[in-house]
Amino acid sequence: MKKNKKKSFGRGANSCRRCGRKSGLIRAYGIYLCRQCFREIARDMGFEKYS
Ligand SMILES: [Zn+2]
Repeated sequence: MKKNKKKSFGRGANSCRRCGRKSGLIRAYGIYLCRQCFREIARDMGFEKYS
């Protein structure tokens, strides 16, 4: 997260910030990722339980 970037997504901040997809978006914990991207990242982070 960069400080000089406030809200780059504006009001409709409902798209994956990794691929831009809007379906299956996960906003929990401020991650803003679709389920697919989240699964990939979660796997790298060791959160396999969420898949
Ligand atoms: Zn995505």
